Amino acid sequence: MRPANGIRGGATTLLLGLATVWGPAAQAGDVERLVAALVGETPLFEDLRTLTDEVGGRPTGGAANARAVEWGLARFRAIGVEARAEAFTMPARWLERSARATVTGAVTFTPQVAAMPFSTATPPGGLEAPLRDGGAGSAKDFERLGATAKGAFVLVEMPELLDLDGLFKEYSEAAAIEKRAFPAGVAGLVYMGSRPRTLLYRHNASRGERNQHPMLVMEREAAERALRLLRAGKSLGLRAQIDVESGGPYEGQNVVGEIRGAEKPEEIVLLGAHLDSWDLGTGALDNGCNAALVIDVARQIHALGLRPRRTLRFVLWNGEEQGMLGSWGYTKTHAAELDRHRITTTLDIGSGRINGFFTNGRPELRPALERALGPVQGLGPFTQVEEPIVGTDNYDFMLQGVANLVANQESANYAPNYHARSDTFDKVDQRQLRLNAAIGAAVVWGLGEAELPWARQGRAEIEALVEKTNLKDQMASFGLLESWLDGSRGRRP
Ligand SMILES: [Zn+2]
Repeated sequence: MRPANGIRGGATTLLLGLATVWGPAAQAGDVERLVAALVGETPLFEDLRTLTDEVGGRPTGGAANARAVEWGLARFRAIGVEARAEAFTMPARWLERSARATVTGAVTFTPQVAAMPFSTATPPGGLEAPLRDGGAGSAKDFERLGATAKGAFVLVEMPELLDLDGLFKEYSEAAAIEKRAFPAGVAGLVYMGSRPRTLLYRHNASRGERNQHPMLVMEREAAERALRLLRAGKSLGLRAQIDVESGGPYEGQNVVGEIRGAEKPEEIVLLGAHLDSWDLGTGALDNGCNAALVIDVARQIHALGLRPRRTLRFVLWNGEEQGMLGSWGYTKTHAAELDRHRITTTLDIGSGRINGFFTNGRPELRPALERALGPVQGLGPFTQVEEPIVGTDNYDFMLQGVANLVANQESANYAPNYHARSDTFDKVDQRQLRLNAAIGAAVVWGLGEAELPWARQGRAEIEALVEKTNLKDQMASFGLLESWLDGSRGRRP
């Protein structure tokens, strides 16, 4: 779909033609060789192809996810980088086995549906209830529904999802809608799909594993039809049949690769991307492409025989989709060495161009970051964003006071395919992914070498960050606020 080749000449020339603003001459050579290697021919796309096409969609807790862990370990070992699987606790198992629905009553039809993560199952014969027009799910809409919401499936209209802003809005609105729906006593909640052409996807319900209701996404066109019928005065019902595999806590695994530092091996600079995905598609944009990128950066550093000053850790997270649980688990397992985690970098926005980094409320990271970006300046411009971002694996590092970056990427085709059946290998912009690998490598290598004039933040500084930014709103929309407020997540005083 997009040009896979043809970047070698152009990009390499571009990169090698850059004047570097690097420090010692020997290191400038290192990073330029690394960047040039990454924009050349590497096994990046073959890795991505095997992960997406052969391993497939890989929700944590399922058999494909276990194969993905093996895939990651095998990749690191094949390139000669030391790697291990590290266990963490997943609080609850949830996998969809099947989801079906039939609109009943005045008109009958069978829309395609997907169960939302942590939806409850229905009785095997299905659950039938009246279907109500939930409008946009606003307070006014629930007022209008009044007692008729009780015991009904409420169908909520969604605007079409176009970009990342829309995605964040979708999450925060869903949290508010669910807050209104459950006290109203609904039997279940049905969201109109936000993607046209009957495309299905899975979104987390705001209550995560604490959810106690059937939750569905219904293909957009059928949901619009149902709403038109309801608004024309027809009486409809919905029979939903949801079968899930669910259970209590179990062990998930992160894959951790490492290249030991030559001078400061006890200090850690981390580059990570989550390995898990939802399972309607094959998790290419979210986030197989960046998992493959992390491996490719480790591979080229090792292949060039580069010895970093600090230890570089390359982590493929699991349990991200259920609430960044693998990275949370890592911060617990590695609590004793978090002071020595000098900075972590996360990639999780598909293969759109990296146009800078979120510094997550830490303006002091900028000078070192911008120096690290010097050798790839030709792939910019790069603009850093100071506001913190919630929704990926920097989260627990941020709440633990560890300096953390998230690559800020052009949303490109990320949002329309997000968590959807269409998130497959062909959607990845191969040319840009290579360039992003070069950018990620320059950052992780540069930060591994540089003087880093910051320390881990204490509880008071983290609290101040939460207070002075919009972090609380973001945390609430991802169902994360409670665990911060009750002290179960985040740095202790
Ligand atoms: Zn992701």
